[in-house]
Amino acid sequence: MIINKKIRVGILGATGMVGQRFISLLENHPWFEVVSVAASPQSAGKKYSEVMNGRWNMKTLIPEKVRDIIIKAVEKDFDEIAKEADLIFSAIDLDKEKIKEIEERYAAAGVAVVSNNSAHRWTEDVPMVIPEINPHHLSLIDIQRKNRGWKKGLLVVKPNCSLQSYLPVVYALKEFKPKYVFVTTLQAISGAGKTFESWPEIADNCIPFIKGEEEKTEKEPMKIWGAGCPDISATCIRVPISDGHMASVAVKFEKKPLPEEIINAIEDFKNPLGGLELPSAPEKFIHYLSEDDRPQTKLDRDYENGMGITCGRFRGDKNLDWKFVALSHNTIRGAAGGAILIAELLYKKGYLK
Ligand code: NAP
Repeated sequence: MIINKKIRVGILGATGMVGQRFISLLENHPWFEVVSVAASPQSAGKKYSEVMNGRWNMKTLIPEKVRDIIIKAVEKDFDEIAKEADLIFSAIDLDKEKIKEIEERYAAAGVAVVSNNSAHRWTEDVPMVIPEINPHHLSLIDIQRKNRGWKKGLLVVKPNCSLQSYLPVVYALKEFKPKYVFVTTLQAISGAGKTFESWPEIADNCIPFIKGEEEKTEKEPMKIWGAGCPDISATCIRVPISDGHMASVAVKFEKKPLPEEIINAIEDFKNPLGGLELPSAPEKFIHYLSEDDRPQTKLDRDYENGMGITCGRFRGDKNLDWKFVALSHNTIRGAAGGAILIAELLYKKGYLK
């Protein structure tokens, strides 16, 4: 149902790093309006602004319309949340089996659920989508609804933030048949839900292990890309950066492209969202930077309001074919913004009626 012509949105995990990003990005959204915020039982029953005092980490203030909303408990207040929201963005951090159960329960109650969590990424009838790469996978929802007897509800997931900096660039080069990809990601601390205040030990430090991340970085592209997906080998490192995941990438192609062919393929990337006028879609999805010292995290993570990917430093590799560096904003393109874009596409395709 639409109130004031806007779709009513609930956010599960609204107090977390990704949850607050959802709230800030949805302020003034032309189609969606946040009406319900939910978190753990510890936060429930209090005003959003009260719980977020000292925790709000966005550059803009907490939106007026959200400040006074009383936080609900994701599980205990299920009936109320499912009744007041048509669309739910899930950004809870909990045991995976529990998350699976919670997200399915909301979808079964007729709510469209778009999740940031990995719990359902490998569920067969749940599409995992980067809208510029595999928007057609959303048609799996028709099968999902049939399988599960859902009329209105649905469940879609977005992939891990780590792969969203490099995969779009490799995908843009698909005509040259990328065969092997070696990637090292340098990942920001907001990707762990942290700030420098909440994680002082990360200052002046790099941690060469992020639990589960390398497996996700290597495997999730296979579901998104499908046949022809290159074989990916990944190392994921946590670095002392607030926002922005960078990736250092080396690729072996079946047909090694010339330097100008690489730049042309990136510049001419045919964005399947072109013409759909989705409010959060970047005008240009991938931007090539020719300077030797770009992309840089601080300068380039907010490219296209954090929804675009920047890349550069293409150079030959003496063992493989080409090396490059890419960057994306992890809590915008890699999390909340990416999920909002999926919801906008769902709306355009008529799934959010
Ligand atoms: P976070 O900052 O730790 O926030 C976790 C959220 O989950 C909080 O709102 C928390 O509420 C809620 N929560 C915890 N226990 C709960 C419970 N028992 N019942 C209901 N809610 C509960 O985590 P985050 O970084 O935002 O990440 C959220 C999810 O998105 C994770 O699954 C993560 O893997 C995924 N993700 C994160 C990123 C990123 O860049 N950060 C990118 C892609 C995907 P309280 O405040 O009340 O405890």
